[in-house]
Amino acid sequence: MNGIQINAKHQLEEVTSTEALDAENYVKIKITRSLFTSEDFTTLSGDNTVKYPVIPSRVGVGKVVEVNGSAPFDMERGTRVFPHPVTACGKCYECLKSDEEHCSAFQVAGKNADGFLRDFVLYPTDCVSVLPPTVKDNQALLIDHIALCDKIVDKLNLQKGEHVIIVGGDVLGIILAQLIVYYQGIPILIDNSDNNIILAKNAGIYYTLFADNKIEKNVADLTGARLAKKVVYMTGSNLNTDIALKLAGHNATVCFAGFGAPAIRVNFNSAIIKQLNFICVNNGFGSIDSAINLLANKAVDTDVFNLPTVQGAQAKDKILEMAQQSTVGAYSKNLIVIDE
Ligand SMILES: [Zn+2]
Repeated sequence: MNGIQINAKHQLEEVTSTEALDAENYVKIKITRSLFTSEDFTTLSGDNTVKYPVIPSRVGVGKVVEVNGSAPFDMERGTRVFPHPVTACGKCYECLKSDEEHCSAFQVAGKNADGFLRDFVLYPTDCVSVLPPTVKDNQALLIDHIALCDKIVDKLNLQKGEHVIIVGGDVLGIILAQLIVYYQGIPILIDNSDNNIILAKNAGIYYTLFADNKIEKNVADLTGARLAKKVVYMTGSNLNTDIALKLAGHNATVCFAGFGAPAIRVNFNSAIIKQLNFICVNNGFGSIDSAINLLANKAVDTDVFNLPTVQGAQAKDKILEMAQQSTVGAYSKNLIVIDE
């Protein structure tokens, strides 16, 4: 295996190792594209939840090159596949009770498990999904994002015609808004950057609002003078959590969602006064196949993000160059690395 590893803060190094495909029911996958996400840039700039060294890139797509054991009938050599970025540990109390959904030690690619910025990975067949031909590689790189958003919709128990306020127009926020439209809810997306709002509009989001001092009145006008019963705060946005709490009505549900857990502060004073319910979603575990179906059904337009790409040989330099930039929201740092 040849790949790129983060050794320590700001240190990228090319690495080589040999791994034998000797475990039963594993496949060897040639990674053809990987996504170096904003979260991977956080790992590169120093994340005290990460144990270095680690191979970054939370997401990858590839082709099966070898199978050991009895592979599912549809996973023969050459099959395009999506290895799941988040897997259950198999050892914790919840996993031992077969409640993997609530695993307390998820293995997350690029964080506490090696990610996909490498040529080959060995993966258990039950953590690999087959990609239908209608789902292109660049779309597949956002499957994990869609899976996380699908879990949010599920946890919110979204009803048809219901308003959902989304605070934060990052990639996840815009995908979530599209999914809410698909499920016949009414998203209202809020951000403080014109660029993010324009991108959301291009993605077909009809109600977008600028996070300014008229926001409460504007939301009340859209929802018929009621504040929202369902609010989602995207942790990858740089907006103040007060906006989410301010727009939540009494007894509303507020969801904090995102891959990362930056230092977020919440003013519990208003939360207690309004008796808000909180839920948190930080991964798409269990919703990967549902996300692939959503892509195949064109529920989400991922082309709108137009993520930058680089060839594998130039990846290291490009990543180090991008690490110097500071961007927020839908334009935050994401890089597709091509290695075909
Ligand atoms: Zn577990």
